[in-house]
Amino acid sequence: MRDFNFHRPASVAEAVGLLRKHSGGKFLAGGQSLLPVLKLDMADPSDLISLSGIAELRGIRVEGNTLIIGAGMRHAEVAQSPEVQRTIPGLARLADHIGDAQVRNRGTLGGSLAHADPAADYPAAIVALNGTVQTDRRTIAADDFFTGLFETALRPDEVITAVRFPVPTRCAYAKFGSHASKYALVGVMVAKTADGVRVAVTGAGPYAFRAAALETALGQSFSVAAIEALGENLGVRADDLNNTAEASGAYRKHLIAVLAKRAVAACL
Ligand SMILES: Cc1cc2nc3c(=O)[nH]c(=O)nc-3n(C[C@H](O)[C@H](O)[C@H](O)COP(=O)(O)OP(=O)(O)OC[C@H]3O[C@@H](n4cnc5c(N)ncnc54)[C@H](O)[C@@H]3O)c2cc1C
Repeated sequence: MRDFNFHRPASVAEAVGLLRKHSGGKFLAGGQSLLPVLKLDMADPSDLISLSGIAELRGIRVEGNTLIIGAGMRHAEVAQSPEVQRTIPGLARLADHIGDAQVRNRGTLGGSLAHADPAADYPAAIVALNGTVQTDRRTIAADDFFTGLFETALRPDEVITAVRFPVPTRCAYAKFGSHASKYALVGVMVAKTADGVRVAVTGAGPYAFRAAALETALGQSFSVAAIEALGENLGVRADDLNNTAEASGAYRKHLIAVLAKRAVAACL
């Protein structure tokens, strides 16, 4: 790990100003993804601008039919929040199964989304729930947020301030996690809303994606049988999925069906 200057701004505006002044800098939230990157010497920021003292990034509230979670909320806080448990219990359970207790007590929602790890859990939730990323200057729909492997629509000096999740009728997340890290080899979030069914898959591609064939089948019949009836016709090709030492593309395709069925069963 190389030397860097450390800043602890008190506001989002100050943080953005610092990054513009130090263009080789990076925002630091819980450090659960950025610090491993620095330790591996895969990044060499001149300045680290901590977001952890910024009150604007904190808080969880419900406005009408929308759950709003501050970007600085840690995974454990999301998991234990009465508002999250009451409105979107499937999201609380997802947060409760991220990494281990240490990761959950440091890592944040905003950090997870900005890092855009292909095996992270929150991307499946924001895509399936049709959420919106609120930044210091605009809102970005979940469908437009992830743009590639570890890539998002965020500009380098843009701060995620909060995420808005429309409350679904029902939703559940099922994942098959790596034994070592708990990152998703595959994770599937199924959300049923008044407007239809959305299904998002993480871990299987460069970023979380929607599974259109599953959405159509579940829109017609929200049942485990509807997924079984699809057989191999899940609308994804094994050759297009991540193929690693831990899991082949064919195995990940199998997991998508298995986990989608588990998620639907958990909703019923
Ligand atoms: C051992 C281990 C196991 C893990 N297992 C899982 C798992 O099972 N599932 C899972 O989903 N994740 C897992 N993680 C990752 C974890 O969830 C991280 O907390 C998360 O990916 C990053 O959040 P952070 O707050 O730590 O961000 P940081 O590491 O501080 O930052 C990550 C990136 O996001 C940027 N950033 C941070 N906050 C903002 C913001 N508000 N606006 C704009 N940019 C921002 C930073 O500049 C940096 O580029 C694991 C991590 C470890 C170390």
